[in-house]
Amino acid sequence: MSYYYFNNNTDEHGYHEVHTENCTFLPSPSNRTPIGYYENCKVAILAARIAYPNKKFDGCYFCCRECHKG
Ligand SMILES: [Zn+2]
Repeated sequence: MSYYYFNNNTDEHGYHEVHTENCTFLPSPSNRTPIGYYENCKVAILAARIAYPNKKFDGCYFCCRECHKG
């Protein structure tokens, strides 16, 4: 289980990058939104999509590589 956050800002493709709480690239507290504790990034991104249906998400290359689409 990890605690997941997404970046409030979007990347160049319009995606909000999803990070674990231990990631080096985790945005500062004022710049991130908590998703919650989840088993893996796939479940965390699914939960984020349900909570924020108008946003697009992508996993961080470093901490959520299996969810990283690029
Ligand atoms: Zn990350």
